[in-house]
Amino acid sequence: MIEKKLTIDHIDLGGKRVLTRLDLNVPLKNGQITDDERIVRAIPTIQKIADDGGIAILCSHLGRPKGEINPELSLRPVAKRLSELLGTKVNFLDDCIGPVVEDAIAMANPGEIYLLENLRFHIGETKNDPVFATQLSSLADVFINDAFGTAHRAHASNVGVSQLVEKAAAGYLMLNELETFGKILANPQRPFISIIGGLKISSKTKVVDNLMPKVDKLLLGGGLIFTFYKALGMNVGKSFVEDEFLTRAANILSEAEEEALESETGESKVVLPMDIVCADDFDKPEKIETYANDSIPEGMMGLDIGPVTAESFADMIRSAGTVVMTGPMGVFENPRFAEGTRIILEAMAELTDKGGITAIGGGDSVSAAKKLIDPNRITHISTGGGASLEVMEGAVLPAVAALTDR
Ligand code: AMP
Repeated sequence: MIEKKLTIDHIDLGGKRVLTRLDLNVPLKNGQITDDERIVRAIPTIQKIADDGGIAILCSHLGRPKGEINPELSLRPVAKRLSELLGTKVNFLDDCIGPVVEDAIAMANPGEIYLLENLRFHIGETKNDPVFATQLSSLADVFINDAFGTAHRAHASNVGVSQLVEKAAAGYLMLNELETFGKILANPQRPFISIIGGLKISSKTKVVDNLMPKVDKLLLGGGLIFTFYKALGMNVGKSFVEDEFLTRAANILSEAEEEALESETGESKVVLPMDIVCADDFDKPEKIETYANDSIPEGMMGLDIGPVTAESFADMIRSAGTVVMTGPMGVFENPRFAEGTRIILEAMAELTDKGGITAIGGGDSVSAAKKLIDPNRITHISTGGGASLEVMEGAVLPAVAALTDR
């Protein structure tokens, strides 16, 4: 899809008013930015516009103000950080539409950079309201969408604006995210392993469906495995289960078994953990024990994959060509249940060091990687949680579909 769309390198930016949608939705604590990665990743696109003599009119959302002005969700601190990173002035405007913004942009000079206030202070943004989209697009000669993190949503500042301007093109971050996942999914270096974890199988079935025919192995972990065990008739104690997905889980396993009968090895692609770290309570665990997957006692809940599984998964990962992970192997936020996720991430980092391709998508596994290993040792860490999940599902993202064809 992206290979058919205009990119920032296809359009003339010199002297143009370049409305640029970024994902500057950074975490803030007491007005301080606690992780500036999204700002850092937006720099190449902004720099290109300024270097080419365009007027960069940057816009983003921050948090969920739901159409109300909320000073705690102002993008002003982001303008300051952007200015530090770029080493040049970033002019902050107190709104994203209206006369004050229009007047400032009318006076702007080529190469200058402006950041508009939080788009979601207007309710029209998330509703893709045509009036709001028209007001935004009136600021622009051309539009660049570099907000991969919101590309799975059809909002005014991505889909709406794209349809109103003559040229809407992808920025460098958007391009990098889509090309990386595109290459991995279309032509992976083999063996290709996917690791799927996280709490719910209900949120990952489409990913399983899309990846199953492409991968050599699908390793499962996290809370979602207990729905599979229960579907197999095993006792899962107090572990998290989605009863309405038991049939779905059983079908995933039986389809993989059927396919295995026709394969050379006869082995199923889908691998479930063989041992589980369990506790008596989620919030205040007093008893923590590891059990074989078929021996989880009543009153215990599984909160991490066990050491035998972690080492076995790590061995497979280290000898793979490509590994894509979405979702943690356990409750990694608690150090007592983070070991399985850490061992898997470390094996991915070792694979990257040896020249393998590794990618992590989905919000929680990205935070796990940042917490548990050096994230620079992973080939690609996605900036978009929901968006990367939809890419792994094989979905066409609405904001990408809305860009101008080449
Ligand atoms: P998801 O958003 O579906 O990827 O789920 C991520 C969340 O699942 C993280 O916050 C983990 O703490 C949680 N999680 C992972 N494994 C388990 C488990 N065995 N039981 C309960 N929660 C889990």
